[in-house]
Amino acid sequence: MTDNTLPEFPHATVLGYPRIGRRRELKRALESYWAGTTTADELERTSHDLRLATVRRLVELGLEPGTGAVPNSFSRYDQVLDITATLGAVPARFGEVARRNAGPARPEDAAAPGSGVREVPGDTYFALARGTAEQPPLELTKWFDTNYHYLVPEIGPETPIGFADDRIVREFVEAARPDDGGIPVVTRPVIVGPVTYLLLSKPEHGAPDDFSPLSRLDDVVAAYRALLAALAAAGAPWVQLDEPALVSDLVTPQGPAGFDTVADAVRRAYDALTAPTPGTERPQLLVAAPFGDLRRATGDRLEPLAGTDVEAVAVDLVRGAVPPAVPGLAAKTLVAGVIDGHNIWRADLATRLGLLESLRDTTGAGAVAVSTSTSLLHVPHDVGDEPRLDPALAGWLAFADQKVGEVVTLARGLRDGRTAVEPQLAEATAAIRGRAEAAGVVVPGVRDRLTRLSDADFVRAPYSDRAAAQRTRLDLPLLPTTTIGSFPQTTDIRTTRAAWTRGDLSDADYESRIRDEIARVVALQEELGLDVLVHGEPERNDMVQYFAERLAGFATTVHGWVQSYGSRCVRPPILWGDVSRPQPITVPWATYAASLTDKPVKGMLTGPVTILAWSFVRDDQPLADTANQVALALRDEVADLEAAGIAIVQVDEAALRELLPLDAAAQPAYLDWSVRSFRLTTSGAAPSTQIHTHLCYSEFGDIVGAIDDLDADVTSVEAARSRMEIVPGLSSAGYARGIGPGVWDIHSPRVPSDGEVSDLLKLAVAEIDPRLVWVNPDCGLKTRGYAETTASLTNLVAAAREVRATL
Ligand code: GLN
Ligand code: ZN
Repeated sequence: MTDNTLPEFPHATVLGYPRIGRRRELKRALESYWAGTTTADELERTSHDLRLATVRRLVELGLEPGTGAVPNSFSRYDQVLDITATLGAVPARFGEVARRNAGPARPEDAAAPGSGVREVPGDTYFALARGTAEQPPLELTKWFDTNYHYLVPEIGPETPIGFADDRIVREFVEAARPDDGGIPVVTRPVIVGPVTYLLLSKPEHGAPDDFSPLSRLDDVVAAYRALLAALAAAGAPWVQLDEPALVSDLVTPQGPAGFDTVADAVRRAYDALTAPTPGTERPQLLVAAPFGDLRRATGDRLEPLAGTDVEAVAVDLVRGAVPPAVPGLAAKTLVAGVIDGHNIWRADLATRLGLLESLRDTTGAGAVAVSTSTSLLHVPHDVGDEPRLDPALAGWLAFADQKVGEVVTLARGLRDGRTAVEPQLAEATAAIRGRAEAAGVVVPGVRDRLTRLSDADFVRAPYSDRAAAQRTRLDLPLLPTTTIGSFPQTTDIRTTRAAWTRGDLSDADYESRIRDEIARVVALQEELGLDVLVHGEPERNDMVQYFAERLAGFATTVHGWVQSYGSRCVRPPILWGDVSRPQPITVPWATYAASLTDKPVKGMLTGPVTILAWSFVRDDQPLADTANQVALALRDEVADLEAAGIAIVQVDEAALRELLPLDAAAQPAYLDWSVRSFRLTTSGAAPSTQIHTHLCYSEFGDIVGAIDDLDADVTSVEAARSRMEIVPGLSSAGYARGIGPGVWDIHSPRVPSDGEVSDLLKLAVAEIDPRLVWVNPDCGLKTRGYAETTASLTNLVAAAREVRATL
């Protein structure tokens, strides 16, 4: 569309903003609603207030109120679930709930906004998110390479798809014509695009084997057209459609969709969405492609998109390269994602402005606007909320609100010239220089140690030698039983930790309570007859934060919450400087546990890749170098555990798969450095010390070779739900060391019977050498209760004994 009367894209915007609230207001509102202590109306009122406060805050920070510069990226639970609700695409397995509430209207009913469009009621929405008595919820999976999780749509040939719920329109109207007399804000609705929605969907249970959710693209697009028409009628000048799937090699179409490639799907969807319909308006469309480069070795998605009539394209210029002048771009606004939406460091504004100034020439775009590379969903709200941070460190950071400021400054510089923003550029430059020169950022001792590393520091003795030494030292039965590390975290443990953190409990009292807990957990494990014991991790608030608080180079925040899924938030530590270990971290607890039993006690560490994945990591050096610094600190911890007589050390790499780059071309380099950092952590161990690792997932087809390269003596993985599916995959990839395929799915309170566990074990020993098989749950037990823990572990030990007797 080249109609001159249409409003141009605003100069400055962000692709999305945190929605949980500065003080996690949404979390509290949701949880009290679910608990039944507040009503649906109260939840709606809180979300209404939160939405209005958010759009007004964004205006206060400098986004224009009248042009669609302010994104409306609110969601009550998840933005993918919002589309499922908008489309009324409720899977048949939720039939009861869906029938109780109205079904979706047909798209043609909805073409005239307001007519025939019903709301998918809150109880259906939350039933999909959280499950019902009869049905498990939609599956929860990571959103690209972030730590956010979305609810996977289940789409089959018969799944209803229409414009069923106009909440998105009502939220636009709510801000544009507020009922409280506050300033009106014309927002830009932010919604997941149709191609990404379907690429992330899985076939509904019972769909034919060769069914591809992408084959429903035309139905989805028809519903989006109705939604867009309703938004235009309500007065929306712009709508943002997020299409991150276009940059990912990890998201590929399954089964035949009726067209060949993702590029074809893009053309088909956006040609249809932009095709004029007589008598119907549509808003202008911004298609956003965060998290990577639209042009990759495996396929270019920029050209197909630029070839459609969408009015604006948002590219990620933090992860991706500057696009070349492709046909079609001249008629569009290039929304340049130059501020990192996925990390928390203050940007070098002068350099970014230089890049922006060159973009019109290099890309041939019709216009250039300034934005973040991704939604700000992935960073906390405001550095100003962190009075306890070292002021120097605070000055290097930009959370969501500061990033909005950076975008606004850059847009002004681009429009009015560099001199208009000279003071802000200078301030950013000074902050970055200050950061580079600050004590602790570069620590010569840490650097020297890294440069002195040689290949020998990454290899252990051959496995056969290690296995022999470990057999002699440990003298374990066949099919040894163990757990993944944590035992249930009771309210008592949590309050004890909290009281100590607040200063209400003395160090001595705290220590004695934790020791009591360790003693209890060790006694329980002896009673249950487990072979390799753990101390139970009662001292850990979180497997990453615990280490971050005890290593130099990290800081932690008070309000730096980031949504993980639904009402759940995490508070990632900030890794800002060179990492070292001032003193041993886990040794006192592990040795105390070991002193209470004759059985071996397994030391428990979080690995370097997982520590990086769940922190905000410095961006001024390669991740590989940062990982190796963490690895060296942990390597010293392994050595100290060994010196204290601990014979088994587990290094958890729960997030190894999570950091795998979306771009296939970047995966080998990642797997190389991540595996090396694990090996650097563990390869100082003597052959007789047994190194375990634990990986929290079962879909690791992509990284099976890397798991083997970790060279751990024993690897435990999730396997109960997939019924040991993983075992043949690992062994055929050449993995021939100890393996503990989880036999108890700890993600639900259900207790597996001993027969169930022994069936799983029989599957495992039929596939691989029984001398390699370990018996353990899928993951740590910290979210479980004692009742099911004791019952399940009893059955697990009984099953191991039963199968052992048959070998
Ligand atoms: N050792 C940790 C625990 O047992 C591992 C947790 C995890 O894998 N996420 O809790
Ligand atoms: Zn796990």
